[in-house]
Parts: sequence; structure tokens; C-alpha cells
Amino acid sequence: MMKTLGSPLAKLVRGEGARVQDDEGTWYLDFLAGIAVNSLGHAHPVFVDAVTRQASRLAHVSNYFATDPALALADRLARISGAGEAGRVWFGNSGAEANEAAFKLARLNNSGGARTRVLALVDAFHGRTMGSLALTGKPAMRDAFEPLPGGVTHIPSTIEALEAELDESVAALILEPIKGEAGVLELPEGYLRAARDLTRRHGALLIVDEVQTGAGRTGEWFAFQHAGIVPDAITVAKGMGGGIPIGGLVTFGHASDLYSRGQHGSTYGGNPLSTAVADAVLAEIERAGLVENAARRGAELRERVLGLGSPLVAGMRGRGLLAGVALTEPVASELSAAAMQAGLIVNAANDSTIRLAPPLIIGDAELDEFTDRFGRALDAVAATR
Ligand SMILES: *Cc1c(COP(=O)(O)O)cnc(C)c1O
Repeated sequence: MMKTLGSPLAKLVRGEGARVQDDEGTWYLDFLAGIAVNSLGHAHPVFVDAVTRQASRLAHVSNYFATDPALALADRLARISGAGEAGRVWFGNSGAEANEAAFKLARLNNSGGARTRVLALVDAFHGRTMGSLALTGKPAMRDAFEPLPGGVTHIPSTIEALEAELDESVAALILEPIKGEAGVLELPEGYLRAARDLTRRHGALLIVDEVQTGAGRTGEWFAFQHAGIVPDAITVAKGMGGGIPIGGLVTFGHASDLYSRGQHGSTYGGNPLSTAVADAVLAEIERAGLVENAARRGAELRERVLGLGSPLVAGMRGRGLLAGVALTEPVASELSAAAMQAGLIVNAANDSTIRLAPPLIIGDAELDEFTDRFGRALDAVAATR
């Protein structure tokens, strides 16, 4: 494997529900879920059945042909996003690819060449390909790869910065409704509404990166829906596939007319295997009420963590089942290692934040187990201070 990887936390061999097992037979409670990917947990019968059924029927055909699964998933995304009849969907294979498609969409909103800039936020994460990296607001990830595609300005996440930067030279503003990779950082109150008003006033697109927050994780299908706004486009991936690689761009209203024939494509994009599985995953999230479960369990998770009363916990950020445990000291790595020792997978998103993104299927049993194990990990780290 390339040196881009760190040393693995364990070698995993199987999973079941919210649990995974390593090659030594140890089971872990998985509160990372492949970084907000395994919405239904591991080896869910609906996921297994969808993979098996579609793989034995038609796995791949190329973009020269239509298939029922791609059309069904596009319809479903248009419905749950609120894009409706005027919505359009493009499929790729990952979040980065979805954001590449969004970046190219922004370039098409150029008003005859007058709009040359794209605004993105400091600290934002949009992916690792050259285009999505150009949108990403983390110098440590970008610097070695300059020059990146140009015209992107990273601005602080304040309404004042938006007001100062938005004008007729801006083609689009792209943002994460909650900055996941940066440590589950929320935007200021009223930010999305202000962003919607300002982009509309200046003719810029509002593009919401829902790669991590989408597919029900925050307690709405998409996090922008909490703010009651309508964006021009959203990008989706991670949780919508439940483990099968897929990403997509959903456009709303006039933004649906920007792309024309031949301007974008991907060999695997929208193939019947990945779209059938994603459609089945989203159907199960809907059938089993997992969007509501994410809201309810997220609130419970918050109470459970705060209820531990650990001196290491400063507070909780995030929404639904995308949670950030803010620590009083920069001990996130020690804490995630201690959690592994206690049989729990969590993620050190930065020095002083633990990110929790469990499968949307969790219930009382998983919360009990989490609370016990996370409490033990906190105590173990606190004892060393
Ligand atoms: C993970 C992530 C991406 C990149 O997705 P990949 O599938 O890893 O390419 C983009 N945006 C956000 C908000 C993400 O969390």
C-alpha cells in the first residue's frame, strides 16, 4: 500500500450491525461507521440483498444506456432533497468526484466570462482530487500540490465575510453545513439563510456539500433542510451508498440547465450496481424511520456523553448522529486509542475533538455499550494527566 496511509488501527475481517471484528477475534462497537458511510451498519440484510440481486442481474453497462436503478435513485434523490421535477442528478463514485462535478457546474455559471471566482470556507474539506482540493480550505493538505485549479477564495465562516466577498464576480459559494473533517464545526446561527439571500442577490450558486451530513445523518435527509433554505446544488456520497462507492450532484431549479451534453461524465458513474444498492439503502432509511432515529439517538448520545461528567469533556457539537466531543485538552489521539482498548471505535478529528458517526440503526443497547466504553476510555486518559 502507498505511504499515504498511516499504520492501521487493526485488521478487520467482518461486521454485523454496529459491530466489527478484527483478525484476532476481538469485536468493536463501531461509532465511526467507515466515516459516516455505513448508514445501515455492517452486513445489513437489505444491503446484502441489494448487492446480490443486482450483481446477479446487471452490474455495469456504460453511460450509453439507461437502467432502472439509476432512474429510481435519481427520482428518490430529487424527492428527498426537495429538488423535485426541476431537479437533475449526475452520478459519480465518490464525494471528491461529486465536488468536481459541482466545481465544473460553478464554472458554467460564468455570465459570459464575468464570474471568475468561487468562494469556499477556511477549514472546509471537499476531497483530495485536484479540483476538490482547490475547494478544500486546509493548507496542510493543499500546499504540496500547488498549483491547484484557480479562482477559489477561502473566507472565514462568518456572515460578515460573506457580505464582504460576494459580488458579481462570484460564480458559486460552496460549503459544508457542518464541517465534519475539521472537527464537526457548526456554522454560525443564521449563516445558511444569509448565504442563500446573498448568493441569490448576486447571481452566484449556493452549493452545499452534503457528502458527510447527508442521507439522514443529522436528523433531516440533508442538513440544509434544518435551515429551511433551497440551495442550487448539493453533493452527496458516503452515507447514501451504505458501503458501495457512489457519489452524486443534485441540481435545483435553473442550475439544472447549466450542464449540456458531453460536458461531464464517468465510466462507472450511475452504474446499476451502485445505484441499486444506494436506492435500497435510502429506501430502508425511510422505511425504518432512521432519519428520525438519527435525531433522537443523537440527542441521547449528547446527553450520555455530557452525563459522564468527565473533566476532559468541554461540550458537544454537531447534529443528530454527526457529533463532535470537544475536549478540554489536546488528547484526542490518546482517547481514541484508549477507546480501541475498551472495544470502541471513535475518531480523533483533530487534537481536541472526537468525532462520532455511528450507523443510523443504533438503539438503546448500542448507546449503553458506547457510554460504558467511552466512559472507561475517558477515565483511562484522565488518570494519566
Ligand atoms: C469525505 C468528504 C468528501 C470526500 O469524499 P470522498 O468519497 O472521500 O472523495 C467531500 N466532502 C465532505 C464534506 C466529506 O466529508
